[in-house]
Amino acid sequence: PAEPGRPYRVVLLGASGVGKTAFASIFGGAADSMDSDDCELCEDETCEKTIEVDGEPATVTLLDTWDTDGEWAQECYMQTGDAYLLLYSITDRASFLRASELRITLRRFRPAQHTPIILVGNKCDLVRRREVSVTEGRACAAVFDCKFIETSAAMQHNVWEAFHGIVRQLRLRRDSK
Ligand code: GDP
Repeated sequence: PAEPGRPYRVVLLGASGVGKTAFASIFGGAADSMDSDDCELCEDETCEKTIEVDGEPATVTLLDTWDTDGEWAQECYMQTGDAYLLLYSITDRASFLRASELRITLRRFRPAQHTPIILVGNKCDLVRRREVSVTEGRACAAVFDCKFIETSAAMQHNVWEAFHGIVRQLRLRRDSK
């Protein structure tokens, strides 16, 4: 079955240092790619590629927000995404709080619509430096009515699961229209 003509625009949001660049480079790398060439992160920090999810191709444009602390950039991204990966680091409570703030801002920009969002607790390999428990992460996601996953970009653990999860949610939303 054909995907819609336009690629899904997936935005990486989160405080600086949580692993957005690491996510983007895993996405841009060879693994899971159906394209012949790896996609290169260009100047505008976007990367488009076709991945296979549940046996069906999905074309995803990934946008890495390198500066989500800037109001302008933030608002811009909040208006352009079809779906969001909201990252924090499990080793940094401030980034967890930042993720909550970003979720609230997102809701302001996207009232009513059911925008797919996954709350992503990254760096789960850093067990000894954990500041945010799995329970807290899951509870936060429940409050915000979004999915939750813990990942390690360093170990390449669950990163593709997060990308696949967001595509599944986008398809569900598409199919329910
Ligand atoms: P960004 O500012 O959100 O783009 O964060 P980066 O992707 O640049 O990551 C910040 C730092 O954290 C870098 O030194 C990464 O190598 C490191 N990092 C990113 N993800 C992980 C992870 O899952 N585990 C560990 N141990 N380090 C990570």
